[in-house]
Amino acid sequence: MDLLKTMHTMGHERVAFHQDPASGLKAIVAIHSTVLGNALGGTRRWAYASTNEALFDVLRLSEGMTYKAAAADLPMGGAKSVIILDEPGQQPTEAQGRAMGRFVNTFDGQYIAAEDVGVSPQFCDWMARETPHIMGGEAVSRGGDPSPWTAQGCFNSMKACLKFLGKPVSFANLTVGVQGCGATGYKLAKLLRDAGATVLVTDVHVPTMKRAVEELGCVALGNDRNLFTEKLDILAPCALGGVLDAKTIAGLNCAIVCGTANNQLLDPSADGVAIKKKGVLYSPDFVANAGGLIRLGGLYLGYTEAMVDQKVAKIEETTLAVLEESRTQDSTANAAIAYAKRRIAAGRTSGAKKPATVGV
Ligand code: NAD
Repeated sequence: MDLLKTMHTMGHERVAFHQDPASGLKAIVAIHSTVLGNALGGTRRWAYASTNEALFDVLRLSEGMTYKAAAADLPMGGAKSVIILDEPGQQPTEAQGRAMGRFVNTFDGQYIAAEDVGVSPQFCDWMARETPHIMGGEAVSRGGDPSPWTAQGCFNSMKACLKFLGKPVSFANLTVGVQGCGATGYKLAKLLRDAGATVLVTDVHVPTMKRAVEELGCVALGNDRNLFTEKLDILAPCALGGVLDAKTIAGLNCAIVCGTANNQLLDPSADGVAIKKKGVLYSPDFVANAGGLIRLGGLYLGYTEAMVDQKVAKIEETTLAVLEESRTQDSTANAAIAYAKRRIAAGRTSGAKKPATVGV
């Protein structure tokens, strides 16, 4: 990859690599945009096949954070970081957490790290021993696990989808499929069950799926069935990115796709158009799953819990505005990007960038 050329095309401001021989840390921080303010984005620990794969992931994820923050109307930019593991399942260590914290500290608050796949509140607290620019811990930094807010935001986005389709905003007679019953999927399934929906669940980790069945009364989908071709009112991808491609979109048998997973469309441009042509309403992922960012970013910026909850509730209104806008566009995904880009452009012209906030 010609990195500078790719940064130019995707609009990244800064990409930094770091390796720390003492702890074995290998990490990349990508700051996509600070036009609207300093940028909060999770740290992902993953065993990538190559540095290029890790780089591609962090570039794509950080760009998504810019749109997520802008669409959520947070005075924040977009960034993300990845820690490259030597092998899958490698256990996190305090030494690596602290080395990552020192790396984050070099950005002087322009980048604020938090949890993502493979990073726990404990790891956030290890990072926070070295820098104030961490959210998502429970002892040294603040905020803890953001997944309850992510799940609530996604549920609010589902309400907007129902409204947009002219359906009653009631889950009582709906069947919803949830792929992945982890931190966000489980909580989303609970909200749906509490609202009266029938919830079909899948998870590659069988005990996780069993928990949703036993504790929430969800229905486990047998191995002979596929959630992506199942007749559903709503499909909620809450596991991996890239699950919607030409093949899965062609097989969809649901009215709405609205989940917590990041980067659900494998090719945002082509797959966004394909899902609209298929007649399935897709709630753009970065609009639907912004609740966790709103919670951690909001606390960092000094919002009260009530302000955070208000902004998470507003995801319903934002989803509806984006869906309305998509009527004249080729996809809801493109409508969401246009919506976010307008906010960023307004911030750029007004020079509204907020000063660095040390809130932890
Ligand atoms: P998690 O790791 O707690 O849960 C993911 C679950 O998906 C796990 O139980 C895993 O076993 C399961 N899974 C993996 N592959 C699967 C497959 N092919 N089929 C079915 N299940 C599968 O993660 P999470 O925090 O719930 O995050 C889920 C998604 O939401 C990720 O894409 C994440 O980036 C995104 N997201 C999470 C948050 C948050 O607040 N945690 C915020 C925004 C976006």
